[in-house]
Amino acid sequence: MNKKCPWCDSNKTQINLWVKDLFLTQETFEIHECNNCGLLFTEPRPSQNEIGKYYQSEEYYSHKENKKGFIPKLYEMVKSINLKNKYNMATAGLTKGKVLDIGCGVGDFLQTMEANGWKTTGIEPSEDAKTIACQRINATLLLPEEINQLQDESYDLITMWHVLEHIDDLKEEIKQLQRLLKKGGRLLLALPNFKSYDAMYYKEFWAAYDVPRHFNHFCKTSINNVFKNSELKRTNTSKLIWDAYYISYMSEKYQHHSLPLMRGTIRGMLSNITARKNGEWSSMVYIFEKE
Ligand SMILES: [Zn+2]
Repeated sequence: MNKKCPWCDSNKTQINLWVKDLFLTQETFEIHECNNCGLLFTEPRPSQNEIGKYYQSEEYYSHKENKKGFIPKLYEMVKSINLKNKYNMATAGLTKGKVLDIGCGVGDFLQTMEANGWKTTGIEPSEDAKTIACQRINATLLLPEEINQLQDESYDLITMWHVLEHIDDLKEEIKQLQRLLKKGGRLLLALPNFKSYDAMYYKEFWAAYDVPRHFNHFCKTSINNVFKNSELKRTNTSKLIWDAYYISYMSEKYQHHSLPLMRGTIRGMLSNITARKNGEWSSMVYIFEKE
């Protein structure tokens, strides 16, 4: 029987791919495609009680600091360039104000925002990540279930860096985003793009499917459909170019290929070259304004 699309409730869906949780459990999940709105969604979706076990890895939140070796060093270097890019992308044309980072992790992005004079709030489900964030930044930090404590129309900027794909109830999330943003405020979403070159090349080994932690998988079409009837209007689209390399490297590692860094670098480069022509970047950034 066809699974119902979690966004548009259409029954016009079919299985698109079988993907293993290559990061942790090796369990296999289905990815279904909705022919009506273009969303891809993971089945079965672990319940709130079960999902914890799929995050039980120290590596997942990249908490560990001061790791030794070439790859962690490279990762740190890219991370700092990336943070600068993220800051510029998120704040271009805005005056300093209040920012909410949903899925703030250990607080890297909010730390950059604070250093530039923004008032910060973070939402983070992982207690471990939150504890570290608490020591690093002055932000108000809340659990996702505490989001209702935040006041209506109180934020100039809301950011979700690779977070919306982890959220089960899309409708509720979009309602909250609309509630929390000021009129004229900005929403920034960074999401993996299953129409990118690296996604097409690696297929079920594409690291950014990341099942079952990613419940939904987006492309430009499905993002347009999801926000179509909301107060959030898309004003700009951008990309995170380093993600093509990182995702390709991880996809090579999952397949136990030799020289994963070299192979991943080549694929990442090809992905970015292709995206220059067709606009399908490995990680897309969508920027919205609340009307
Ligand atoms: Zn749908």
